[in-house]
Amino acid sequence: MARIDWNLRSRSRSCLRCSRPFEDGERVHSAVLAADSDLARELFAEAFAAEEAAKAAGQPVKARPEYLRADFCASCRKSLGSEPWISVWTSVFTPPPAAPEDPVKKASPEDLLRELLEGPEPENHVAAIYLLAVFLERKRILVERAVRPAPDGTSVHIYEHRRSGDILLVADPHLADSEIADAQKEIELLLGLREAEAAAAKTAQAQAQAAETQTTAAQAGEAQGAGDKAPEKPDAAPPEADAASRTAEQ
Ligand SMILES: [Zn+2]
Repeated sequence: MARIDWNLRSRSRSCLRCSRPFEDGERVHSAVLAADSDLARELFAEAFAAEEAAKAAGQPVKARPEYLRADFCASCRKSLGSEPWISVWTSVFTPPPAAPEDPVKKASPEDLLRELLEGPEPENHVAAIYLLAVFLERKRILVERAVRPAPDGTSVHIYEHRRSGDILLVADPHLADSEIADAQKEIELLLGLREAEAAAAKTAQAQAQAAETQTTAAQAGEAQGAGDKAPEKPDAAPPEADAASRTAEQ
C-alpha cells in the first residue's frame, strides 16, 4: 500500500508566506507540494523546526505527511512562480463557519470518510476510504484536482471539498471485485454503527434534558413544600394552618 498523507488539510485562514489573513471573497491560490522538496523546507521552515524541537524534547510527534498543502495570496503566489507543484488551484475564500453547537455524532458517508482519514489507523481502511471518496465525487461533494502515481505502482487522488476547500489525499488501492464487495460491507457496517451511536447519543441527551426538567420541578415542589409547613396529621388539615401560613406570608 502507498505510504501517503492521510490527513485532511483545511484551507488556511491566512497566506502561508506573508501571514496576511484572507478576506471574505478573496481568491486564494492553493497548492500541494512534496514535503521532502526544497520548496517545502523553505515554506514550512518554522513548522519543521517546531517539529524537530518537539522531537528533541521527547514529545510525541505525528508523522510528517508526504504531501503538504499551502495557501497563498495572489501576490505571494505570483512571486513564487512555477515551482514544481503537484497540484495548484484557486478558490474563493469564505470564512469557515463556527463549530456546530450540537456535538452529537452524525452518520453520513462524508462524516465517516473524515473519521477514517483522521483516525489512528487509516491504513486499515484503505478500500473503504477510497470507495467513500469515489461516492462523494459522484455526489459532487468532492472534486478531483489531480492524480499522482504512487511509488508502489498504485495512485493517489487529490480531492478538494467543493464547499469548504479542504483537500483529501486518497490512495487508489486498485481493488479487485471481491475487495470492493468487502469494503462496501465494511462501510455499511460502520455507517450502521455510527447511526446507532448517534441515536444512542440523542436518547441520552433527551434523557438528560428530561432529568434536568424533573429535578427543576422537584426543587420547585420542595421549595413550595417547605414554605407551607404541611401539618403532621393530614386529615386534621386545620383551616388555622392555612390562615397561619397566610399570616406568615404577609
Ligand atoms: Zn501573501
